[in-house]
Amino acid sequence: MKLSGRIKAIKPSITLALAAKTLELRAQGLDVINFTAGEPDFDTSDRIKEAAVEALKRGMTKYTDVRGIVSLREAIVEKYQRDYGLRYDRDEVLVSCGGKHALYNLFQAILDEGDEVIIPAPYWVSYPDMILLSGGLPRIVQTKRENGYRITPEELRAALNPRTRAFVLNSPNNPTGAAYDRDDLSALSRVLERHECLIISDDVYEKIIYDDFRFHSIVALNPRLRERTIIINSLSKTYAMTGWRIGFATGPAPVIAAAAKIQSQSTSNPNSIAQVAAVEALLGNQDEVGVMVREFQRRRNTIVKRLNAMEGVQCTMPEGAFYAFPSVRSLLGKKGRGKRLGSACDLAEFFLEEAQVVVVPGEDFGAAENIRLTYATSLEEIEKGCDRIEAAIRKLV
Ligand SMILES: *Cc1c(COP(=O)(O)O)cnc(C)c1O
Repeated sequence: MKLSGRIKAIKPSITLALAAKTLELRAQGLDVINFTAGEPDFDTSDRIKEAAVEALKRGMTKYTDVRGIVSLREAIVEKYQRDYGLRYDRDEVLVSCGGKHALYNLFQAILDEGDEVIIPAPYWVSYPDMILLSGGLPRIVQTKRENGYRITPEELRAALNPRTRAFVLNSPNNPTGAAYDRDDLSALSRVLERHECLIISDDVYEKIIYDDFRFHSIVALNPRLRERTIIINSLSKTYAMTGWRIGFATGPAPVIAAAAKIQSQSTSNPNSIAQVAAVEALLGNQDEVGVMVREFQRRRNTIVKRLNAMEGVQCTMPEGAFYAFPSVRSLLGKKGRGKRLGSACDLAEFFLEEAQVVVVPGEDFGAAENIRLTYATSLEEIEKGCDRIEAAIRKLV
C-alpha cells in the first residue's frame, strides 16, 4: 500500500502504545503497575456531569458554531479576565476537541514548508510530530538538569533565527514538571520582544502547581507580546475531563480565524454536550481542583523521595503537572536479565519484565537518559511500584 510521505515522517504516540501494552499484560492476568497514564485518576465531578445530562435532555444534540458555543467562548473570556486580568474578545477564542487538537489546528494554520518552531527539550511527545505534519521543522533546544530543565534566555536567543516562526513554551512542563516563575518569564519575554515570532503558550497544567508556586501568564507579564501569543488550554487535566475532549486556543483574531477554518474542514465543532459541561467546569465552584492538587502534591512528595533514595536515580522536584522525570543515567550500560541496558528504552523494558512496572522511556520526550512516571495514581500503587523498581535496580550488575 502506498502511503503519504507525510505519514512516514511521524511516529505513533508512545504513551498511548504503552497504555495498550499494559492492558494486554493485565488481560493475561499479570499484576502490572502502570506509571504511564497522562491523565488524572480522579473522576469528573458531579456538577459537571449533571450539566451534561441537562444539556442532553434539553436537546443540545446538534451542530454548533464551529468555533464553539457563545456561552463557552464567553466563559473562557471570563476565565482569563478572572485569573490573570487578561481581556479577550470572543472572536479571539477557538474551542477544539482537546488541547491537542487546538495545537494541531494552530500549527496547520501558521506553518509553511521549512518554517522552524523552537521546542525546549524535554518536551511533550506530540509537538515535533504535529509540526512535521504541518510541513514545519522542529528545532529542539536541549535544556539542562542543573537549570531545572528550563530554557535560559541565552539558549533561546541563540536558537532564534530568521526562519523561526514560533516558540513553544510549556509551563508546568510535561514531562519534567518544571515551571517558569515570574522572573524566568520576564527574562524570556525580553528576548522574544526583539524577535517577530509567534509564542505558543501551552498552559494545560496552569492549575496543577505545588507548594507556593504562582502561575503567571507571559501575556499578562508582557502585554507587548499579546498580539503574537496564542495560549493553549484544556479542561482535560484541570477538571479530570480527558475523555470529554474540550480544549481551546486564545489569541489574536486572525490566527484564531485561520485555525477555525482548518477546524471547519476537518472536525467541525467539538462535541455539543461536552461544551455545555465545559461552561459549568469553568464557571462553577472550583474547590475540587484544589482537593485534587493537594492529593497530587502528597503523592509527588512520596514518589520523588522514593526515587531519589534509589541507587543511580536522580529526580528533580516538579513544581507542577503530575509526572516525575528522574535521570537514570548512572544505570545505563549496566546489565539486567543478561542484557546490556544501553538506553532508557532498554531500562523501561527491563522494569516491565523484571518488576511488571510500566514507565515511559525518555527518548520520545527528547531526553534519552530519563524515564517518566506519572503520580496520577494512588499512593498505594506508588509505594508498591517503587518497591518493585528498587528491587529490580538491585539486581543490575
Ligand atoms: C495533556 C496535554 C495536552 C492536551 O491534552 P488534551 O486532552 O488534548 O486537552 C497538551 N499539552 C500537554 C503538554 C499535555 O500534557
